[in-house]
Amino acid sequence: MVVIMEVVLQHLTKSFPSRDRKDHGDVIAVNDFNLTIPDGKLIGLLGPSGCGKSTTLNLISGLLKPTSGRILFGEDDVTNLPPENRGIGLVFQNYALYPHLTVKQNILFPLENLKGKDKLTKSQMLDKAVLSAKLVQIEELMERRPRELSGGQQQRVAIARALVKTPRVLLLDEPLSNLDARLRLQTREEIRRIQRETGVTTVFVTHDQEEAMSISDLIVVMKEGVVQQIGKPQEVYDSPANLFVAKFLGTPPINLFEGQVKGGRLLIGGEAVLDLGKIPDQKVYAGVRPEGFALHEEGGFSCTLDRVEVMGRDISVVSANQASLNPLVRAIIGTENKIDTGRYREGSRVRFHLIPHKVYLFNWETEERIYFGER
Ligand code: ADP
Ligand code: MG
Repeated sequence: MVVIMEVVLQHLTKSFPSRDRKDHGDVIAVNDFNLTIPDGKLIGLLGPSGCGKSTTLNLISGLLKPTSGRILFGEDDVTNLPPENRGIGLVFQNYALYPHLTVKQNILFPLENLKGKDKLTKSQMLDKAVLSAKLVQIEELMERRPRELSGGQQQRVAIARALVKTPRVLLLDEPLSNLDARLRLQTREEIRRIQRETGVTTVFVTHDQEEAMSISDLIVVMKEGVVQQIGKPQEVYDSPANLFVAKFLGTPPINLFEGQVKGGRLLIGGEAVLDLGKIPDQKVYAGVRPEGFALHEEGGFSCTLDRVEVMGRDISVVSANQASLNPLVRAIIGTENKIDTGRYREGSRVRFHLIPHKVYLFNWETEERIYFGER
């Protein structure tokens, strides 16, 4: 039902005049953003609050004009087109439904303003509205008003309204943020299903890494207006390009240590914990994913145990290390590892082997990744 469409952002930049009277510098909300969103894919635009996600989305929608750069929808340069001529569907965090209109009237609304050759008859409009409502599974709610719906249902109506004109591109700005945890999970799966069924090229903005990881074909990690990394969720998790990306992805988060490369080995707190091969001696950030520790009596990496948490599928070994940049080190090991809790008491020594492909090194100054071993 939807025209499939590649979206290309070329050197997209947006600056705003600073609001601070003393500071005459501009705020560069989006800085030289380059991205090709493949046909029919869902892109997760991910980053902390204020990093430029909404600005990017509003540039794609046409609500904002770029300071420089171009936006292409397929062959069309849409950079100077107003939003209503771009063929986009927009969904916001706060649903933005008309409270005095029924669900049906809300969904019909975008169709009623179509002019000229696009103008539809009443029955054509109704057919489209019903199709859209079916897609998001709210067809039995058509006569209700927004206040008679749950948050999740309201957001479905907003999605149906965004889809009713069969947009070329669907743009979602933190669409799940107002929903409670359970609904958030369910609605996120719904959005994924709807996106697959329609094949509409979609940009999904979120600050929640887990949300982005679970829903996206590709994620784009942003920081202060600048793209940090673009890749499949698993690839970005497995191979972060810099310290920021490594810290931003993963729950529980990556464990960070002050480390030293010396004679081809990684030292943490003076202990040689990993052979690295040929890398110049230097101070580094050493990141270890929670699943990167293996309990072993002769392990080169030792910590002081704080506690052991048994959580169904996993065991968390929580401990302290003098070189840790976090208050505590969290290692997650499978329950197949039998832990003798009598032996592992608070204050006792625990030793680990580090699993090489779960260890990441970053330059102490630039915070860029330092690769070691086979790539
Ligand atoms: P995000 O959606 O990732 O939270 P935004 O795109 O909303 O971030 O904002 C990015 C940056 O641009 C922020 O520093 C924000 O304060 C600034 N900004 C956004 N819109 C405006 C505006 N209309 N005028 C001035 N600064 C703005
Ligand atoms: Mg935003």
